[in-house]
Amino acid sequence: MQSLVNLASNIIDQEKFSLCSNDYSRIQFLLTTSEFLSFIQKSPAILDEQTTHSKCLKTSNEYREKGNQSYASQNNRQALVFYNQAVRYAPSYSHELSLALGNRSATLFNLKQYHLAIEDIHRALDLLSFDEEDDARRQRLEQRLYQCLQNKKNENPPTQDNQLDELKSNETFNSNYPSLTTHATIETSVDRGRHVVSNNSSSTSLKPGTIILIEKPYASVLLPSAWSTHCHTCLRRIEFVLFACSQCTRAIYCSFNCLQESIAWHAFECRLSLEALDKMQLLTLRLLTKTGWQYLYKNKVSFENYLQGNSIEQSEENIYQWDKYENILRLETNSTKRSNDDLLHRSIQACLIGISLINNTSFCQYAFDNIDYQIYICSLILSHLQALPCNAHEISEFVYHRLSPLTSSCQEIGAGIYATLSLFNHSCNPNVIRNFLGDTVIVRLLRSIPSDRMELVDNYGCLSATMSKHERQTKLLEQYHFQCQCQPCIDQWPHYDQLPDGTGEKTIDSKEFDEAFQRLIQGNPPDKSDLNVYENFLQQCDEQMPSETCIKGKVYNNAQEAYKQCLNFFSHSIHTED
Ligand SMILES: [Zn+2]
Ligand SMILES: [Zn+2]
Ligand SMILES: [Zn+2]
Repeated sequence: MQSLVNLASNIIDQEKFSLCSNDYSRIQFLLTTSEFLSFIQKSPAILDEQTTHSKCLKTSNEYREKGNQSYASQNNRQALVFYNQAVRYAPSYSHELSLALGNRSATLFNLKQYHLAIEDIHRALDLLSFDEEDDARRQRLEQRLYQCLQNKKNENPPTQDNQLDELKSNETFNSNYPSLTTHATIETSVDRGRHVVSNNSSSTSLKPGTIILIEKPYASVLLPSAWSTHCHTCLRRIEFVLFACSQCTRAIYCSFNCLQESIAWHAFECRLSLEALDKMQLLTLRLLTKTGWQYLYKNKVSFENYLQGNSIEQSEENIYQWDKYENILRLETNSTKRSNDDLLHRSIQACLIGISLINNTSFCQYAFDNIDYQIYICSLILSHLQALPCNAHEISEFVYHRLSPLTSSCQEIGAGIYATLSLFNHSCNPNVIRNFLGDTVIVRLLRSIPSDRMELVDNYGCLSATMSKHERQTKLLEQYHFQCQCQPCIDQWPHYDQLPDGTGEKTIDSKEFDEAFQRLIQGNPPDKSDLNVYENFLQQCDEQMPSETCIKGKVYNNAQEAYKQCLNFFSHSIHTED
């Protein structure tokens, strides 16, 4: 991609390009320059037809054979892993798919996962033919189905989504910003833009751990490194049964629901090679495929108007929904702070992606020979290519190493764009903390919030305790285009090593905290009750040293880190031996 962009930028009259004042006119300028058009036509398509994720009968059979060996030696977990791959590679409607599903159902039966076994048996039965061999198989499958139905009553229902439902059921949500709880709301000011503030009418402080936001992303994508291990829709690790796209082996899912949910957008991406796209470009593409041409077409006049630098017409309802495309389109792009070079490169990328999408998929067939639609689609892409690096969030999974717990850490598996989460401003000393359950984000208070309407601030990856002021300011300016004016930046707060020992100005002792913290650093897995211990300790410290401006000591920092680790442990995490 980058080499194509470099080549293309030499064709463009950069001075004329710099006179374009909005995203629409930038793309219009490029797509009406004949040299650029012929360059695009001659270059290889960025989103070419993919050839590396095809179904393969032979591979499916090999995996099924390995599964059979594990099954024969009664290693059901291992057999399941192989049968999952056999299902993934089997061509749709094939005899091999029926065999893979049938064999997987036997393993699931042994693992007492009767509801999953039943699903597999039904799908395997549907694919059988009416010859003698299949008649025998049909009998065996029907027998197993009967046994599953007998046993199903004693089975525990699947628990995957319970954690999220439980969290939600304990909260009440803000009626205008339904992803925020009633403990927070949005305000707008000239210097802070739209931002999140606390909303607390009671006389007591909001405690650390108070949930501020629970939100699904408008769109999320997996990094290629997680394509074979995580669900392409909800981004959870596939722990048990794998569901596969019927046409490719790239997209796999944790449930039939996730598979069905993906069809609307995956239908366009299935046949494309996505390897040339980076994380933000992938997410940009997903934003469009998820929104769909129909919606973009319906709102073309209004969105085009916005891309030409005018404000978007507000709908009558004032509710700020997580799944409304306008809320994503309106996110800050920082166009005016970008260099001409930056804008030109992104505009070329937008054209390469947009024209590829139009030419190689059925996303918008009318755009094939319609320059007006082409400009529209590419300028939407350009807007997203600017907004996403400053607004999208990394989605991570906590990898807990059972044998060496202190080396446990968060691993990036994807990225998501969230309508409300994006409204949090940054501080190098944040008062909230983010966690994920799949791709759903949960924001909690990291500190006590004593007063109403105090700004709640997140961290964009630059903590004052672990990075120098210079490093923080450089990164924030480069990626997010602002000069950080938070307390640690103004007052030059010290790095962790130079922080006072103890909790800070005052010494706060807590036997409970000391014990929980010792257990953690000795490598014992945390207990759910530890969350409360850390929350109480942080609250005590915050109440004794109430000011947001006060530098706290090493022990306070340790407590924050222990609390984060503990939250991660109970969120989106995987526990491994090594
Ligand atoms: Zn899923
Ligand atoms: Zn596919
Ligand atoms: Zn700062």
